Amino acid sequence: MAGGGADGSTGVRTDPERERGVSFPDLLPDLAPVLPDLRGRLAANQSLADITWFRVGGPAQALFVPADAADLAYFLANVPAELPITVIGLGSNLLVRDGGVPGIVIRLGRGFAQIAVEPGNRIRAGAAVPDAKLARAAADAGIAGLAFYRGIPGSIGGALRMNAGAHGRETRDALVEARAVDRRGNLHRLSLPDMRMTYRHSGVPGDWIFTEALYQGTPGEQAAILKEMNEVADYREANQPIKERTGGSTFKNPPGSSAWKLIDAAGCRGLRIGGAQVSQMHCNFLINDRSASAEDIERLGETVRARVRDASGHQLQWEIIRIGVPLDGRPTGEALGL
Ligand SMILES: Cc1cc2nc3c(=O)[nH]c(=O)nc-3n(C[C@H](O)[C@H](O)[C@H](O)COP(=O)(O)OP(=O)(O)OC[C@H]3O[C@@H](n4cnc5c(N)ncnc54)[C@H](O)[C@@H]3O)c2cc1C
Repeated sequence: MAGGGADGSTGVRTDPERERGVSFPDLLPDLAPVLPDLRGRLAANQSLADITWFRVGGPAQALFVPADAADLAYFLANVPAELPITVIGLGSNLLVRDGGVPGIVIRLGRGFAQIAVEPGNRIRAGAAVPDAKLARAAADAGIAGLAFYRGIPGSIGGALRMNAGAHGRETRDALVEARAVDRRGNLHRLSLPDMRMTYRHSGVPGDWIFTEALYQGTPGEQAAILKEMNEVADYREANQPIKERTGGSTFKNPPGSSAWKLIDAAGCRGLRIGGAQVSQMHCNFLINDRSASAEDIERLGETVRARVRDASGHQLQWEIIRIGVPLDGRPTGEALGL
């Protein structure tokens, strides 16, 4: 067994041969008969490393890209209730484990990519719209209040689930309502209180899939909003490793404290395990140097948590969402720590 140690020894490597060897039984022969009217794309054993920021991990047992909200509802109403369903957005806050994700992974695509400006400085967006694209559309329409989305590399669906925020604003500060489909295919309209948003979290059941959102802005000058967006982009470039293979902030800030300060004080800046490293630029970011496995990254995260706990007593909570299973016989979660 390859042991991943904080001394830099190697964890499980992303051995391309081995990675290619990870595959699940094909679900499609069983699903096709119960989904005769499906219009979206359903495919077995699809790579998730290709569509997530860390670029690690095994495949989805099946990947479904619905044609639109009705197709998504049809799918959910008809697939067996016991089949696990995982939704992903642009994969900017996700760590996919090396053994892949059993069941169905749903990724919203073109059918959820519309943006519509509405009267009263409101703007509506499908859940697959990138946050930065919505910020730009709002600026073009003279709607202020969404410039902070310029720096968040996720989709509207991910922003709703994570209550994504930056530069002193969060999704809940501008959200009017969202729409979602539950696990049985029922459509829901959720007011802001229904969303039960707290710091980097929504209290909506974890298996509901957001399909669109309506935002409220304020009247603004396009030039001033674009200037603010440029400042957001410049700040990111100077302070975050945005060109790396990363998952953004790894841990939530504990109340009254900063995760990065605790990580720095625990001596973890630059710490490396296998191909994973704590960013030198911003030590709440973990980086894949192109050779990391998901296990290297998760082990590094758990090692940081253990060191911070020992140094300061703080129990850091993961902000990055970890999905899927390890390779056969490999540990996950706290079992990977010191
Ligand atoms: C360089 C970098 C900088 C970042 N900076 C910030 C920042 O400043 N502020 C911040 O808040 N975040 C930041 N992030 C994290 C990330 O961009 C946000 O959390 C973002 O909202 C995730 O969106 P996503 O589409 O990538 O979701 P994913 O990473 O694909 O998924 C994240 C979670 O959202 C859920 N989800 C995705 N789509 C849906 C949907 N349609 N319905 C229901 N659930 C869904 C997934 O199941 C998962 O639980 C950063 C990430 C990176 C890589």
